[in-house]
Formats: sequence, structure tokens, C-alpha cells
Amino acid sequence: MEVEEKTLLYGIIGFLWLEYFWELYLSRRQHRIYERTVEVPLELKDILSKETFEKARLYGLDKSSFSTLKGFLSMLISTIFILLFGFLYFWNISRDILIRFGFQGNNEIIHSMVFGLLTNIYSTLISLPFGIYYTFVLEEKHGFNKQTVGFFVKDKIKAFLVGQLIMLPVIAAVVKIVRAGGDYFFFYLWLFSMIVTFFLLTVYPDYIAPLFDKYTPLPEGDLRTKIEELASSLQFPLYEMYVVEGSKRSVHSNAYFYGFYKKKRIVLFDTLLKDYTPINKKDAAEKEEDKAKQETQKEKVELKDEEMEGKANVDKKENKDSAEKKNNEQKGCSDEEVIAVLGHELGHWKLNHVIKNLCIMQINLFLMFLVFGLLFQYKTMYRAFGFVDEEPVLIGFFIVLQFLFSPYNTVLGYFLTSLSRRFEFQADAFAQSLGHGKALCDALIKLNTDNLGFPVYDPLFSKWHHSHPPLLQRLNAIQKTE
Ligand SMILES: [Zn+2]
Repeated sequence: MEVEEKTLLYGIIGFLWLEYFWELYLSRRQHRIYERTVEVPLELKDILSKETFEKARLYGLDKSSFSTLKGFLSMLISTIFILLFGFLYFWNISRDILIRFGFQGNNEIIHSMVFGLLTNIYSTLISLPFGIYYTFVLEEKHGFNKQTVGFFVKDKIKAFLVGQLIMLPVIAAVVKIVRAGGDYFFFYLWLFSMIVTFFLLTVYPDYIAPLFDKYTPLPEGDLRTKIEELASSLQFPLYEMYVVEGSKRSVHSNAYFYGFYKKKRIVLFDTLLKDYTPINKKDAAEKEEDKAKQETQKEKVELKDEEMEGKANVDKKENKDSAEKKNNEQKGCSDEEVIAVLGHELGHWKLNHVIKNLCIMQINLFLMFLVFGLLFQYKTMYRAFGFVDEEPVLIGFFIVLQFLFSPYNTVLGYFLTSLSRRFEFQADAFAQSLGHGKALCDALIKLNTDNLGFPVYDPLFSKWHHSHPPLLQRLNAIQKTE
């Protein structure tokens, strides 16, 4: 290898490690906070019980240790992959496979597709042990995992197949566009990426997401009526509401909306809804039993003389009180809280956050393709990765977008995370302007408790990683104006 190639290769590896050490430094700072903050901070005393706080702390510690180990191993694997010319290795194997299947001559498109398939298999296999450990050891230990082994295996296979069905035609098109597009191929590439984005945004919710999870329309009832009222008061073009069985995966809860123009849909995780989450079903069954008992008691009492009626009322009241207490311990949000959460979500829509993000993404892609257009014939880049006599489009594409752009991606990532936090505050303020401030606070606290979010963060760690502001910051921002 010549000096220029070496410089490029080691420069790329050097930057990857630099970024790794920066992230390691941040996560160590946060790890110390998990270790040392054993008492519930004063400002959270009324919000979190000691027990929940301790659970969240231990969960945080485990997640932090896991990501440290995963981060290190991933870096090690990537470095070895680059140094051993992993791309060249897979490129050559792909050629051997094609020859074995009787493909003669050089067909870059098919060659690239086989290469894409092999590298996807490779990266799926590499990430599999981490996924298994995270789901079945870590999440299991803290009571979040709801996946059976069968569900996990099927899910992974489906995800892989669907991924290939989307990826392989995209790879073929990219190679074709670059080779046939002339000087302005970057522009056609950009148009193509826009079409793919809109196609996936349209197709994903209706045809792809249902392959993985069960979506059922939210049944008629109070909650549905209230959501409809909220939507129409904001002129939100609500088309349908779904409950997704997120509880089959994990008990983490959420809500979101999607869809174009007049056909917007709202999706609620069953774990968000007090009346739907299976965790509460056991409790609900017990409550039904209680209620039945109560009824028979009531009948008995009514049979007795009028003097006893006073006592029966007291009994009834006591029963109601204990049921209410039980309710507070249940997971999931009340209708008012769900409405407040949706007020926040619709705030994202009203304030055009989704469109703004989409625009940023498209501008970013345009810039990346433009630079790729300038760099893709830069021979040193291919040589640095072991490609001496050929310069495959797909390899150039990977090197430029994945490695040469990594400093830029890091900076952009930081900018987008900050922007996202800002959007979150704005959406909270929007829900508050609709009069849901108090309910939103309650919902945020409840969701944080249900998901065992640890509420104390190192400021630097939080700034770098959090796309959503931590609980306390959000509560403070809402309460300040309440
Ligand atoms: Zn949000």
C-alpha cells in the first residue's frame, strides 16, 4: 500500500476509535451516576417511590454495562473487518458464487446484489448474540421481555427477509443509476431516494408493519370518542385508530401517528392503555371477582332491615377506595392521560415537525450524494480497502457514506438530537395549550415508572444521547408555565 492509501485507512480507523472513546467517556460518566445516586433526589420524592427508583437504577446499571461491552466488541470486530479487507473478501466470494451458478462475464448489478446479501447475512449474524442477550437475559431479568424464543426467531427471520426484499432492488437501482446517470447521476440518485422514502412511508404501515405485529382498530367507546373529538378540534385528518400488541414484544409503551394527507392514523401501544394491557388483565379479572362478591354482599344486605343500609354504604365505599388504590398501582394511562399524550403527538403534526425532519433528511441526502459524485472515482479510496483493479460502485458508496462521512455524521447526529429535544418541548407546550398540562405530567411520570426510566442524568451524556429531554426537565418546563 502506498502512503496516501495507508493514511486514509488509518485515518478512518483512527476517527472511529476517537468517536468510540468519546462515547465511552460519556457512558462512564453516566455509569458513575447510576452507581452513586442511591437515594431518590429531593425534587423527585413525591413522584417516585424508593422501590421504583432502585429498580430503575439497577436496570440502568445493567443496560450501561451491556452497552459498554457491546460497544467495545463491535469496535473490535469492525476494526478487524477493515484491516483484513472484509469488503474485498465478500466481493470475491460473491464472484465465486456467481461463477458457480453459471454467470459468465462481469455483471456489476447482480454481483453487487449478491455482495449485499452476503454482507447483510454477516452483519445479522454478528448482531444476533447481542440481541439474544439483551432480550432474554437483560430485559428478562428486569421484567420487560415478553417474547418467546419462537416469536424471537420468527421475528428475526421475517425482518431479514423483508429487509432483503427492500435492500436488493435498491442496490441494483443505485448501481444502475450511477453507471448510467452520467455527470449528474447524484441528482437522479437523490430523486430515486426520495421516491423510495415516500414509497416506504406509504407501504410500511399497511403492508410491512402488520407482518410483525397485530394492529386492531380501537373499539368504540369513551377513549375513541375523546380521541375523535381531540382530532377534529385540531382539524387533524384522522382516518383510523389502532391498538398495536406491543405487549408481545416488551412492556415498554408508546404512541405515534403516521400517514399522508387526509389519511392519518393513530397507533396506541396496548401497554400505554390501562384497559388494554394484558398486565392489567389479571388484576381486572380479580376486580371483576371483587365486584361480584360486592354485588352478592349488597343483595344480602338489602335483604336485611333498613337499619343496616348505612353499614352497607360504608362497605361499598371502602371497597371502592381499595379498588382505586389498586388502580394507581396498575400499568398504563387513564383516558385523560392518553389524550394528553396524543395532544403531544398531534403537536408534532401541527407544528410540522415530521415535515421539517423529512426536509432535513432530503437536504442531507442531496449533499451526501453530491459529495459521493465528486469522490467516487477517487482510486486511493478503493485501494485503501484492498480493491486494486476494480472500483465497484457499491463499495465506493459504502466507503464514502459509512466511513468518509463519519465525522460529518457525528456532528449531524448531535444537531438532530438537539433539534429533536427542542421539538419535544414544543409538543409538550402544545398539549399544555390545549389544557392537558396536568394530565401530561401525570402521563409522563407514569410512563417513566412503567418503563423504569432512571431520572438522573449526567448533563453531557444527556445532551449527546437524548432525543427526548429527561423527565424532570419536561415536568419543570410544563410546571413553569402551568
Ligand atoms: Zn414527542
